[in-house]
Formats: sequence, C-alpha cells, structure tokens
Amino acid sequence: MNNPKSPTQGAADVRRVAVVGGGISGVAAAHRLAESVDVTLFEAQRRLGGHTDSHSVWVEDKVYTIDTGFVAFHPSGHASFCQWLAQIGVPTQRTDMTFSVRADEEGVEYSTIGWRTFFSSSELLFSLKHWRLLWDWQRFHMEAPKAAEHQGLVNAGEYFRQNNYSERFVQRHMAPLCAALWAQSQASALDTPLQHLASIVQNQKIFQHPTQSLWQVVSGGASQYLEVFAEQFPGDIRCNSRVLRVLRTDSSVVLETEHESLEFDAVIMACHSDQALDALVEPTTAETNVLGAIKYMDNQVVLHGDATYMPRDPRNWSSWNARIDAQSGRSETTYWMNRVQGIRGPQFFITLNPQSTPKRIWTERKYRHPVLDADAYQAQQRRAQINGLDRTFYCGAYWGMGGHEDGFRSGVDAAEQLLAKLPSLSRSTGQGQGGYAADMGSADQSQGG
Ligand SMILES: Cc1cc2nc3c(=O)[nH]c(=O)nc-3n(C[C@H](O)[C@H](O)[C@H](O)COP(=O)(O)OP(=O)(O)OC[C@H]3O[C@@H](n4cnc5c(N)ncnc54)[C@H](O)[C@@H]3O)c2cc1C
Repeated sequence: MNNPKSPTQGAADVRRVAVVGGGISGVAAAHRLAESVDVTLFEAQRRLGGHTDSHSVWVEDKVYTIDTGFVAFHPSGHASFCQWLAQIGVPTQRTDMTFSVRADEEGVEYSTIGWRTFFSSSELLFSLKHWRLLWDWQRFHMEAPKAAEHQGLVNAGEYFRQNNYSERFVQRHMAPLCAALWAQSQASALDTPLQHLASIVQNQKIFQHPTQSLWQVVSGGASQYLEVFAEQFPGDIRCNSRVLRVLRTDSSVVLETEHESLEFDAVIMACHSDQALDALVEPTTAETNVLGAIKYMDNQVVLHGDATYMPRDPRNWSSWNARIDAQSGRSETTYWMNRVQGIRGPQFFITLNPQSTPKRIWTERKYRHPVLDADAYQAQQRRAQINGLDRTFYCGAYWGMGGHEDGFRSGVDAAEQLLAKLPSLSRSTGQGQGGYAADMGSADQSQGG
C-alpha cells in the first residue's frame, strides 16, 4: 500500500511530518495531520493496521472475512473512533458482548445471554454461590463510576479482596473477564488497575442483555476502515518501511529505514513504546525511563473450527467464552466469530493462547500487548515529561487501557499537540537521501504487530 500521492508534496512552505507505525494510533494521527501538513506514514509490515487485521477464508467458493485482531467497539466507550468511522463513511453493524464461563470440574457453565443461560442447570439455580456471583456483579456495576475515579494505584484483585467480594465472583467471573479483555493469564489478570476495569464496565456496558447491546463491528471486517482511510488519505503511505533510527537535531528529525534517510520537521512515534525507544538515537533519560517501563507480552491467536473450545451446551455459546482448565486453573478465551461478526456459514472460533492445538486451524497470528500493570500505570502518568520535546510526539493504545479508542484518541491528541507546536519550530530543509525501493516480498505476513 505504498501511496505517494500528496498534493502538497514538494511545496516549499508546507511542513513535513513523519508518523512511525500504521496501527490505529498512527492512522488517527496521520488523518488528523493531513489537512495541514505533508505527512509520510511509515509502517514496518506489508499492510497497514497493526492489531487491526482481517483474514479471508475460502470455503466452497465463498469468502468469509474474519477479524483476528481488533473487532468490536461501543458508541460510548469508543466515541471518537465511532465518530471518525461515520465521518469517513465506513459501514458498521450491531453485535453483542455476551460472555460464558465453563469450569468443568466444578460443574459450572453459564452465560450472560439471559436468565436461562445464567442458571443453565438446576444445580446453579439452587446454588447460593451462583446467586452471590450475580449480586456481586450488580454491586460492582453500581460501584464502577466511583471506582473509575479512584485516585492512586489499586489493582482489581486487591479491591475485590478489600471489599469482600465472593471468591466465585472473583475467580469464576472477573478473572476470566480480565484475562479476555487484556489477553492476560488468569494469574495476572487481576493485577489490572482498578480504574481501567471500572471504566470499561461503566462506559462500554459490557454484557448488557443482547437485545439492548449497542456494540458494533465493521461490516465486512475491521480492515475495511483501513481501505477507506488509505483511499482518502492525501499523504504518503509507506508499507514495508521499518524505521530503524530516529535522529533529532536542532533543526529537524532524520528518519532512517533500510533503504534511505529522510528529514522531517517533527515525528509522531505511533509504534509500541519499546519499539519507539529502540529507534531513538540518544534517547533522553526521561524517554528511557518512561518508554522502557512498559512491558509487552506476545499473544498467540488461532482461528479454527474446533467446537470443543466452546461451552458444552450450544445454548450457552456466547460472543466471548472462557474455559477454565481444571489442572492449571488457567482460563482460555474463545471468541465465537459467527456471533460477533454476524457470519452465517461454517463455524469460526478464535482462541487466545490455546493450551492444546485446536483441530481445523485456518490461520495463526501473534500480537504483542502492553502489560498494563503498576509500572505501566506510573509511566502513563509521566507522558507529559517526554511528549512534544525534541520534535518528538508519542501515541499508542499503551497510553490508556490498551483498547482501540485509546489508540485513536492518543493519535489525534499527538497530532493536535504537534500542530500547535509546529509554528515555533525551525524548518527542516526537507532533504532526503536515496530513494525508496519498496520490497514487497520481505515482510513476515504471519506476524501481527
Ligand atoms: C486479538 C486482539 C483483539 C482485540 N480486540 C479489541 C476490541 O475488540 N476492541 C478494542 O477496543 N480493542 C481491541 N484490541 C486492542 C486494540 O485493537 C489494540 O490495542 C490497538 O489496535 C493498538 O493500536 P496501536 O496503534 O497502539 O498499536 P498497533 O496496532 O500494534 O500498531 C503499531 C504499528 O507500528 C508498527 N511498527 C512498529 N515498529 C515500527 C517501526 N520501527 N517502523 C515502522 N512501523 C513500526 C507495527 O508494525 C504496527 O503496525 C484487540 C487487540 C488484539 C491483539
């Protein structure tokens, strides 16, 4: 998707800005900047999108497009992103966020689809622990607005302990839910900062009754919005262009890829924080400390057709399904993509980090997620200490709760901060060396961002 079509390119009075990373944060930043400056968007992979990734499967002459990365959004929890989709004209459709939990050794299997699936057996109907789980869930919903504004660092697990939430609620509802939301292990899922969990529960109305759900997906797969963006974008999109070095001087920022080096007035680093730090030549101490504090973990995503990952009773099949392994105690999340994306046809499931190998695998991907623990939370509080200095701005979902809205908003914010600061910066000469020789064959397609 190399797309050098900027109408402003070459005009002497137009400022030149580079955006490094073509995930939602880089796309949002590039879109916001393009009205005012000459933008070059560098993406290391051969496709735009990062965690926005749709996979096409051919079955009996029909093509099904399944999202293996980002998929769903909510008008209140993803307000800016939703407005942008409407602005650029991307069609969307309704979905729901129903959730099931299966713990075979305890005989527990329930879903939030409705009363019948929540009390899916007579044992559950007469189980005080299960009624208590329901009560605790209602209670957490009521407490969420206050908890979302909690100052200071408390993780979700601590909060539940201190406030006498039941073990069943914590281990058989919230831990699998957090593991699904942040693709974490069951053990570390409850280390999630309380504010993050509470604001998601409050704003995104997760697990409302399906008929009331306002959750949406992009019709035809999330990557559709990338197509629309690329068609409308007046700047230069350079895929297969990993930025290896970012050198800040008094009068410019010089970016080096494998093929050449180019000079810009400013740069927005829209890759992950550790990738940004790796590319910076002579990072400041603050950059090293803040960007280096956030850890990442690889998550394997497998798209398959193996229904053994789902609840035993098909009436409990939900959009999100957690299966808790008796031996390891780990929860494994499987998304039922037919329900999520409204697909009729063969069954498509996506399992995060499966503990065994599913049958009928269509594709596998790896995505890196930020670990949003106490270190990350503290680094987020220090963003202003590095952002906008030395002509360098930072965006990415890692500055928030790791969701698409966090990425989108941080991209727009970085663009606006840059535009406000640009008049005070001296001009670069805009000179580059060498030319781009786009090598479409070298990227590894099996890897997500
Ligand atoms: C399986 C999965 C499901 C998800 N589902 C949802 C969901 O339903 N709803 C939701 O809100 N969020 C969801 N998320 C989270 C959210 O989509 C992502 O966190 C968000 O898209 C991240 O955007 P980003 O721009 O910060 O990073 P990324 O998407 O990772 O983009 C960073 C980009 O930078 C590029 N890059 C890195 N280094 C360089 C370099 N040196 N030079 C050039 N380019 C570089 C990478 O190749 C990548 O394309 C999901 C994430 C995953 C993985």
